[in-house]
Amino acid sequence: MKFELEDSLRGATNEELLDELRRAAKVAGRNTITISEFEQYGKCHPCTMQRRFGSWTKALDLAGLKPSRSKIVIENEELFENIKEMWISLGRQPRYGEVRIPDSKYSAGTYEKRFGSWTKALKAFVEWVNSHDSNGNSEEESIGNDSIQHISRKKPLKKRTRREISDRQRFRILVRDGFRCMACGASPLKQPGIELHVDHIVPWSKGGETTDDNLQCKCSKCNLGKCNQFNA
Ligand SMILES: [Zn+2]
Repeated sequence: MKFELEDSLRGATNEELLDELRRAAKVAGRNTITISEFEQYGKCHPCTMQRRFGSWTKALDLAGLKPSRSKIVIENEELFENIKEMWISLGRQPRYGEVRIPDSKYSAGTYEKRFGSWTKALKAFVEWVNSHDSNGNSEEESIGNDSIQHISRKKPLKKRTRREISDRQRFRILVRDGFRCMACGASPLKQPGIELHVDHIVPWSKGGETTDDNLQCKCSKCNLGKCNQFNA
């Protein structure tokens, strides 16, 4: 059945294919449609659209539809956000036995069903953290407009980044530094009382930027002892 239908659209013009995309989206009841929904409602294989227009997103764009994010992608992001929240509140990697409602929004079973095992879920999570940066640098770039440059021309330091470290960036630094104080090596993995902070190496007040290479993991003791003493 599907093959017959696909043949029927093989010689279709671009506009006919885009019409089909719009029709299927209407059937799906939204102003967008995912690949898997199109497999269900469409009269041709999604590959036909991707081949003709370069990508699924491009086809949606040309059809005047919104870009779609699959339900699975959204659900995975929610599952990853939950791991992140647990990781931050525990100060370390959540253990299998700790992934229980209500401490966790989702049970370990949910992760096992989605990823195969808890370990695989953690692996997927770390990949997700590393691939979805959000230091916010791109937002900061817009700060450098002409009027601000004019006013602050005499000041030697011009910031590209905000002082505040986002949760995601803070977490990424914790992961990168292995949840250890970079000064004394203390880690909540070994001593549960240790509290870790993510701190500017060159203080923000001395011109240091909020970038990964200027951030490090410090325990609260070492962090307090520092206090903008960077002069070297
Ligand atoms: Zn320390």
